[in-house]
Amino acid sequence: MKLLAPSYYPNFSCIAGACKHSCCVGWEIEIDKESYERFSLLDGGSGRILDKIHLSGGEYCFKTDENGVCPFLNAEGLCDLIIEYTDACLCPICRDHPRFRSFFHDFTEIGLGLSCEEAARIILNDQTPFTLIPLSGSEEDVAFTEEEEELISIRDEMIGILEDTSVPIDNRIRALFDLAESDMNALDFNEISPFLLSLERLNEEWGALLRDLKDAEPLDLPADFHMPLQKMCVYFVYRHMTRSLDDADLIGAILLCAFLSYLAWQITGRACAKSDHFSMDSMISIARLMSGELEYSDENIDLIAEMLSELFS
Ligand code: SF4
Repeated sequence: MKLLAPSYYPNFSCIAGACKHSCCVGWEIEIDKESYERFSLLDGGSGRILDKIHLSGGEYCFKTDENGVCPFLNAEGLCDLIIEYTDACLCPICRDHPRFRSFFHDFTEIGLGLSCEEAARIILNDQTPFTLIPLSGSEEDVAFTEEEEELISIRDEMIGILEDTSVPIDNRIRALFDLAESDMNALDFNEISPFLLSLERLNEEWGALLRDLKDAEPLDLPADFHMPLQKMCVYFVYRHMTRSLDDADLIGAILLCAFLSYLAWQITGRACAKSDHFSMDSMISIARLMSGELEYSDENIDLIAEMLSELFS
């Protein structure tokens, strides 16, 4: 399999017990049939693992406690299943997180999702221009369909715009909207804030950031934070432009990436203006929240795409 990844990808490894916002808390983790059957054979087929699994909405899931904690996450922040049976026993979601994949006809792209605090730290601190490297196979060998070639060419153009540091960051984000022949100023945060608050939400910290978007003039972010913001925007473009592989809607994908970039800029700008201690950690924390709340819900992302399509059609 030909697999391409951003150059920062190999720097990632899960920090497990040192992670302050473990991905083993707060999510409903679905278990596929094959993994369920594998779990049933563990521990001599005693069913001990299955006791901690239940059916939720027709899917097998780990029975989390009242705080949303996975039953296999131990007090040291480590996974008891990995300790006892190695990560080979895990279900695909646990084994893969925080990775995401985009499937082209001849190759696959892989990336690290910003909802993981260690991935966010690596992505926002990356000092190099965005480049893809082959993890398996060779980059020269990959073949594209016409549609894929068009997508890659527009995505490269967007990344080029975002990485042109001779242009102020707000103009770079505005230029993404221009590519979709849409006016960024049509987005009114007095309307966007209640819309985003109406979406499914996991964390009240995110709700507070969204409420701050209302009744405030757009704010800028101090120059020290322009590079990590740029890294977030490039990440959105890398990850979400590929949705056009499924729906053939390139303009919709550009608008989604432009919107997420604008939102990241405005949320970090307002959070920074409100705090005397805004830091790189604050940026990472906002990136993690934004990703977990929006990107990890297909429904939320689809509703945002729908809202943008109605607004700009
Ligand atoms: S969020 Fe990231 S660093 Fe934390 S436990 Fe999950 S994969 Fe590991």
